[in-house]
Amino acid sequence: MKNKEEKEISGSIGYESIKADANEIKVDDKKIINCRADLNQLVPFKYPWAWEKYLTSCANHWMPNEINMSDDIALWKSKNGLTEDERLIIERNLGFFSTADSLVANNLVLAIYKHITNPECRQYLLRQAFEEALHTHSYQHIVQSLGLNEAHIFNMYRKVPSIRNKSSWALPYTQSLGDPNFKTGSTKNNKRFLRDLIVFYVVFEGIFFYVGFSQILSMGRRNKMTGIAEQFQYIIRDESMHLNFGIDVINQIKIENPELWDINFQKEIINIIKEGVELERQYAIDTMPNGISGLNANVFYEYIQYIANRRCNQIGLPKQFDVKENPFPWMSEITDLKKEKNFFETRVTEYQTGGTLKWDE
Ligand code: FE
Repeated sequence: MKNKEEKEISGSIGYESIKADANEIKVDDKKIINCRADLNQLVPFKYPWAWEKYLTSCANHWMPNEINMSDDIALWKSKNGLTEDERLIIERNLGFFSTADSLVANNLVLAIYKHITNPECRQYLLRQAFEEALHTHSYQHIVQSLGLNEAHIFNMYRKVPSIRNKSSWALPYTQSLGDPNFKTGSTKNNKRFLRDLIVFYVVFEGIFFYVGFSQILSMGRRNKMTGIAEQFQYIIRDESMHLNFGIDVINQIKIENPELWDINFQKEIINIIKEGVELERQYAIDTMPNGISGLNANVFYEYIQYIANRRCNQIGLPKQFDVKENPFPWMSEITDLKKEKNFFETRVTEYQTGGTLKWDE
C-alpha cells in the first residue's frame, strides 16, 4: 500500500475526469514530471524549447520511398561492386537498426509518455514516435529495394551477439517502467524514470547509433550505396533532434528535482554510460572485423569514447575517457543542427506546395 503523501505527489496521466470548475492552466503550474495541472491544455508554454523542436521536426518531414535507390540496387547486384567487408557493414547495420527504432518507439509509448506530465513535451514525443516509425519504414524499404532476405535482417537482433547485447541491455529499463503499478512521485521511482530517459536518449540514441551512422556515411562519402547514405542522413537529422530533446528533458528534470542527482546516482549513470561504450566497441568490431580505407575498430573505439565524453558533458557529468580529438570531424558537420535547416530548405518548400489541400470538390 502506498502512503498518502506519495500518492499526492504523483502526477496526472491524462485520462482523469473532466471537471467543470477547473481553473485555466498557469505556466507556473507546469512541471515535466509529477505535475497535476491539466495535461490537455497545450498553451501557455513553459518549455519553448520543446515546442520549437516539435516545429523544426515537422519542417524536416521526409518519406523513405522518395529517395532514389536505383544506384544502390545496381551496385549491390553487380558482382564486384562491393567487397565482402562492405556487404557485411550494410547487412549488420540494417540488422541492428531495423529493430532498434522499434525498441525506442516501444520505450516512448509504453514507458515514457505516460509519465511525462507536460503537454508541449508530449507533443514532441508524439512527433518523435512517428519519426521512429519512419526510420523502421526506411530500413524495410532498403531491405526490399536490395532484395535482401527479410527474415535474416529482421532477426539479426536475436542472432548476432553484439547486436543482441545492445538490445537486451536496454530492454529491462523499458520493462521496469512498463509495470502497470509503476508511478513516479517517490525519489526512488523518479530516479528509475530518469535512468530510463538516460539509457534511451543518451546511450541508445546518443551512443549506440553512432558507429553505424558513421560507417554508412563513410561509404556514402566514397560514393558507395549513396541511396542508403541519404536515408541515413535524414535519419541522423531526426536523431540529433531526439537526442537534444532528451538532454533538455533530463536537464530540466534535474533542475526541478535536484535531490535525484546525488553522488550515488551520478556514479550509477557513469557506469551505465561505460557499459554502453563497451557494447558499442563490440559492435564496431563485429561490423568491421578487417578495417576499410583507413577505418577500423580501434578508430571507432576512439570515436565512441569521444561521443561518450560529449554525452557526459551534456548532462552535467565529468568526461570519463582520455580522448581529445574527434577522429571523424566530418560527422560533426553532418550532425550540426544549424546546417540541418539549410539541408531541408528545398524539401520543406516542396512539401508546402505538394501538400495543398483542395476542399471544393
Ligand atoms: Fe530516435
